[in-house]
Amino acid sequence: MSSLDKIKKYVNKYWEKSGTVGHPDEKITLNVIQGLAQNMDEIGRPLCPCNFYPDKQAEVERSREWLCACDEMKKYKFCHCLLFVTEEGLPITEYLPEDHYGRQAYGVVKDPTPDKGREKAR
Ligand code: SF4
Repeated sequence: MSSLDKIKKYVNKYWEKSGTVGHPDEKITLNVIQGLAQNMDEIGRPLCPCNFYPDKQAEVERSREWLCACDEMKKYKFCHCLLFVTEEGLPITEYLPEDHYGRQAYGVVKDPTPDKGREKAR
Protein backbone atom coordinates (compact mmCIF):
# COMPACT_ATOMS: atom_id res chain seq x y z
CA MET A 1 0.00 0.00 0.00
CA SER A 2 1.38 3.45 -0.88
CA SER A 3 2.06 6.00 1.84
CA LEU A 4 -0.74 8.09 0.42
CA ASP A 5 -3.23 5.25 0.77
CA LYS A 6 -2.00 4.45 4.29
CA ILE A 7 -2.44 8.05 5.39
CA LYS A 8 -5.88 8.29 3.80
CA LYS A 9 -6.94 5.17 5.65
CA TYR A 10 -5.56 6.48 8.92
CA VAL A 11 -7.24 9.87 8.49
CA ASN A 12 -10.59 8.25 7.78
CA LYS A 13 -10.30 6.19 10.94
CA TYR A 14 -9.22 9.18 12.99
CA TRP A 15 -12.13 11.31 11.77
CA GLU A 16 -14.42 8.60 13.06
CA LYS A 17 -12.56 8.08 16.31
CA SER A 18 -12.32 11.79 17.12
CA GLY A 19 -15.76 12.82 15.88
CA THR A 20 -14.18 15.39 13.59
CA VAL A 21 -14.55 15.74 9.82
CA GLY A 22 -12.50 16.97 6.89
CA HIS A 23 -12.42 20.62 5.88
CA PRO A 24 -15.25 21.69 3.53
CA ASP A 25 -12.50 22.84 1.15
CA GLU A 26 -11.19 19.46 0.05
CA LYS A 27 -7.96 20.98 -1.26
CA ILE A 28 -6.93 21.76 2.30
CA THR A 29 -7.47 18.17 3.36
CA LEU A 30 -5.65 16.79 0.34
CA ASN A 31 -2.65 19.08 0.86
CA VAL A 32 -2.23 17.94 4.45
CA ILE A 33 -2.67 14.28 3.53
CA GLN A 34 -0.08 14.65 0.78
CA GLY A 35 2.31 16.36 3.18
CA LEU A 36 1.95 13.53 5.69
CA ALA A 37 2.49 10.93 2.94
CA GLN A 38 5.57 12.78 1.75
CA ASN A 39 7.04 12.68 5.23
CA MET A 40 6.26 8.96 5.42
CA ASP A 41 8.24 8.47 2.23
CA GLU A 42 11.07 10.71 3.38
CA ILE A 43 11.58 9.64 6.99
CA GLY A 44 9.19 6.75 7.50
CA ARG A 45 6.95 8.56 9.99
CA PRO A 46 3.80 10.70 9.61
CA LEU A 47 5.41 13.91 10.83
CA CYS A 48 3.03 16.89 10.85
CA PRO A 49 3.55 18.78 7.59
CA CYS A 50 2.41 22.14 8.97
CA ASN A 51 5.49 22.90 11.05
CA PHE A 52 9.01 23.78 10.01
CA TYR A 53 11.78 21.45 11.22
CA PRO A 54 15.45 22.25 10.71
CA ASP A 55 16.01 18.47 10.55
CA LYS A 56 13.02 16.14 10.19
CA GLN A 57 14.96 13.01 11.13
CA ALA A 58 16.27 14.67 14.28
CA GLU A 59 12.73 15.79 15.13
CA VAL A 60 11.29 12.25 15.06
CA GLU A 61 14.22 11.00 17.09
CA ARG A 62 13.67 13.81 19.60
CA SER A 63 10.03 13.13 20.29
CA ARG A 64 6.70 11.75 19.11
CA GLU A 65 5.08 15.13 19.76
CA TRP A 66 4.43 15.96 16.10
CA LEU A 67 3.66 12.52 14.76
CA CYS A 68 0.07 12.56 13.52
CA ALA A 69 -2.13 12.52 15.51
CA CYS A 70 0.08 14.95 17.43
CA ASP A 71 0.03 15.63 21.16
CA GLU A 72 -2.12 18.75 20.70
CA MET A 73 -4.72 16.70 18.85
CA LYS A 74 -4.70 13.93 21.42
CA LYS A 75 -4.85 16.25 24.37
CA TYR A 76 -6.90 19.21 23.15
CA LYS A 77 -8.48 17.91 19.92
CA PHE A 78 -6.84 20.87 18.19
CA CYS A 79 -5.45 20.33 14.68
CA HIS A 80 -3.61 23.40 13.44
CA CYS A 81 -3.37 21.88 9.93
CA LEU A 82 -7.20 21.89 9.72
CA LEU A 83 -7.24 18.19 8.88
CA PHE A 84 -9.52 17.26 11.79
CA VAL A 85 -12.13 19.97 12.13
CA THR A 86 -15.82 20.75 12.68
CA GLU A 87 -18.43 20.75 9.90
CA GLU A 88 -17.73 24.48 9.55
CA GLY A 89 -14.06 23.80 8.88
CA LEU A 90 -12.88 25.18 12.24
CA PRO A 91 -10.38 23.57 14.57
CA ILE A 92 -11.76 22.75 18.02
CA THR A 93 -10.27 25.18 20.54
CA GLU A 94 -12.38 24.83 23.64
CA TYR A 95 -9.88 22.63 25.50
CA LEU A 96 -6.82 24.74 24.66
CA PRO A 97 -5.13 26.80 27.37
CA GLU A 98 -6.47 30.34 27.17
CA ASP A 99 -3.14 31.79 26.13
CA HIS A 100 -2.69 29.34 23.23
CA TYR A 101 -2.49 31.03 19.83
CA GLY A 102 -5.37 28.85 18.59
CA ARG A 103 -7.69 30.58 21.04
CA GLN A 104 -6.53 33.96 19.86
CA ALA A 105 -6.90 32.99 16.20
CA TYR A 106 -10.28 31.25 16.31
CA GLY A 107 -11.93 32.18 19.60
CA VAL A 108 -13.68 29.37 21.47
CA VAL A 109 -14.76 26.65 19.06
CA LYS A 110 -16.83 24.06 20.89
CA ASP A 111 -16.31 20.37 20.42
CA PRO A 112 -19.45 18.97 18.74
CA THR A 113 -18.61 15.44 19.93
CA PRO A 114 -17.12 15.77 23.42
CA ASP A 115 -17.45 12.06 24.11
CA LYS A 116 -14.98 11.20 21.35
CA GLY A 117 -11.30 11.39 20.66
CA ARG A 118 -9.36 13.01 23.50
CA GLU A 119 -6.88 10.30 24.27
CA LYS A 120 -4.92 12.09 26.97
CA ALA A 121 -7.67 14.06 28.63
CA ARG A 122 -8.96 11.57 31.14
FE1 SF4 B 1 -1.95 15.64 12.48
FE2 SF4 B 1 -1.55 17.31 14.53
FE3 SF4 B 1 -0.67 17.97 12.13
FE4 SF4 B 1 -3.27 17.92 12.65
S1 SF4 B 1 -1.76 19.30 13.58
S2 SF4 B 1 -2.26 17.08 10.83
S3 SF4 B 1 -3.41 16.20 14.07
S4 SF4 B 1 0.01 16.22 13.36
